[in-house]
Amino acid sequence: QAKRERREYALYQRSSDNYTPERLALHTQLGRAIREGGLCLHYQPKIRLSDRQVIGFEALLRWPHPDKGMIPPSEFIPLAESTELIHPLTRWVLDEALGQLRRWQEQGLGTCLAVNISTHNLLNPHFLPELAGLLERHQVAAELLELEVTEGALMEDPELALRSLQAIRELGVSLSIDDFGTGYSSLAYLKRLPVQVLKIDRTFISAMVENASDAVIVQSTLALAHNFAMQVVAEGVEDDATAAALTRLGCDIAQGYHFGRPMPAAEVERWRTERA
Ligand code: C2E
Ligand code: CA
Ligand code: CA
Ligand code: CA
Repeated sequence: QAKRERREYALYQRSSDNYTPERLALHTQLGRAIREGGLCLHYQPKIRLSDRQVIGFEALLRWPHPDKGMIPPSEFIPLAESTELIHPLTRWVLDEALGQLRRWQEQGLGTCLAVNISTHNLLNPHFLPELAGLLERHQVAAELLELEVTEGALMEDPELALRSLQAIRELGVSLSIDDFGTGYSSLAYLKRLPVQVLKIDRTFISAMVENASDAVIVQSTLALAHNFAMQVVAEGVEDDATAAALTRLGCDIAQGYHFGRPMPAAEVERWRTERA
């Protein structure tokens, strides 16, 4: 208890402008939610555009708060990232996601699962052994797990991030660059990354049908990725016109409300049966 209070005080001092008493309380509650099973994962399908098959899911974190309702990850992940809480948080997400992947396997629903990780995880020396331990404990083939790292996150310490990605890749885990196009990584850096997938940020996808310059960005990203033998995922596909345009341009995979919203695991099973 005393230790926790000290940590919270340190947190308060570090960035006192951002840490109102409410944010501090939320941080304490988030720590409790991680420890006591108060978080959950939703799963959003990824669709291969050539044949519209479901080829995997992305796990997205949800925090159903007793008083505030569902708190979106954009509100509490930055809070966790501002302290050490991001480590147990990601550990919980990986543990839960791998458990689910294992259950799907046992039900004969072969699929890949992507998990978002933060730059702080990537730069943490404990992360790799923990990841290896979780794969071992859940008896899940590393090839079925994909980790998504945002482009911006890599740029905080590009060399260390690169080494960490290489070590993760050596475990057999796949890697993708999330929110591609919103960061500032150079082509020279991109070329060195042991990454199999680029995910084009939703901001370029949502208007690509009406907006010629967005369409050009999508096209250039496709050419770039394919030349590096990477696959491309378009995120935030909300209508059929966008899906059709992406298919025409040769985009590999799409994700978005048009195909399926993020949903709890129980609903995934129903969704799959209905779709089949
Ligand atoms: P992201 O990884 O870029 O995830 C995509 C976000 O877009 C998700 O928001 C998803 O629900 C939303 N989305 C999917 N399809 C559509 C669509 O067709 N239209 C629109 N408007 N939105 C769509 P969400 O779940 O609120 O997550 C927001 C961000 O929080 C994620 O962005 C990711 O960066 C972060 N996040 C989520 N879960 C985790 C996690 O477990 N760990 C970490 N470190 N970050 C996470
Ligand atoms: Ca993501
Ligand atoms: Ca994204
Ligand atoms: Ca995003």
